[in-house]
Amino acid sequence: MIDFRSDTVTQPTPDMKQAMLEAPLGDDVFGDDPTINRLQDMAAEMLGFEAALFAPSGTQTNLIALMAHCQRGEEAIVGQQWHTYRWEAGGMAVLGSIQPQPLENQPDGTIALADIEGAIKVDDPHFARTRLIVIENTHGGKVLPPAYMRDVQALAERHGLRTHIDGARLFNAAVASAGDGDPVAQARQLCKSYDSVSLCLSKGLGAPVGSLLLGSKEFIARGKRMRKMLGGGMRQAGILAAAGIYALENNVRRMAEDHANAQLLVQGLGKAVDAHPKLAGRANVHPAQTNIVFFDIDAEIADAFIAHLAAGGIRVTSGYYKTREKAMKRIRWVTHLNVGRNDVERALEAVARF
Ligand SMILES: *Cc1c(COP(=O)(O)O)cnc(C)c1O
Repeated sequence: MIDFRSDTVTQPTPDMKQAMLEAPLGDDVFGDDPTINRLQDMAAEMLGFEAALFAPSGTQTNLIALMAHCQRGEEAIVGQQWHTYRWEAGGMAVLGSIQPQPLENQPDGTIALADIEGAIKVDDPHFARTRLIVIENTHGGKVLPPAYMRDVQALAERHGLRTHIDGARLFNAAVASAGDGDPVAQARQLCKSYDSVSLCLSKGLGAPVGSLLLGSKEFIARGKRMRKMLGGGMRQAGILAAAGIYALENNVRRMAEDHANAQLLVQGLGKAVDAHPKLAGRANVHPAQTNIVFFDIDAEIADAFIAHLAAGGIRVTSGYYKTREKAMKRIRWVTHLNVGRNDVERALEAVARF
């Protein structure tokens, strides 16, 4: 099976499993799991923050951040399409009593600075108090421009607001935008002056479980209480953190391969569509910047196409959407550690056989 559904499907490699087996463990709720402490210190150092917190999922690190930044009745500015708003079951409202202020996403994935500025509430008892701006990088595989990241931070500072980056795939953004430079230094640059960032160890980094939240010592201390409240205080979880350490040490730079495979897929799908009697004029592929490729296909043939892929052992995810003219399906292909160049080639052969 070739699994393009998500980079969350990655399996731990034998070396990673070995590191997990050998990890010294303790009770992390007491703060004495040496492997978790090492992972937290290492990540904070890498990204230029004072402290870090290990938690079971990215949904939880985002919620911890939202609840540690905002009091009940305060407001967080988010994108309509941000994970924190759309894909986390409304957690900030349900569990944090935080009001989301969603704003339209631009085609490049950003939310416009003018929209953010216009949404910031003045101090008036009618309004929820605006407290936080949330930015997501990468968003749908798109790298938010480094200059935009700086502009948002500067805008927040002018208005006395806090800032959080949902950096579930921050290292994909860093690898893609570092050029010949050091991706870790680039990641540090992308979160410079932000109050907090969350990142997933279990996506492109290839660990089986876990996310990190980074911020000031004082913020992380508050976050630790939220994590306990949300049921995310784990015990001998160093066995999981060991995989995270392995991932940060070995799997950052290799993401460039996933990005190259995504490019191969984009080019191959483009050619396959043009040459195909059934697909020509009824499907098109979007350019990719990191490891996520979107392929739009006429809803009338989408299910047959997806079933054809599945019969060839190729798994993707998809969702309906409607343009003014017609119904389409958007198929998502994510490249990762367990999808090689040969797998992309096999997938393209299957597309050609549709
Ligand atoms: C995956 C993801 C998360 C967190 O997801 P979990 O499955 O809870 O770890 C958060 N934000 C974005 C943008 C993501 O893609």
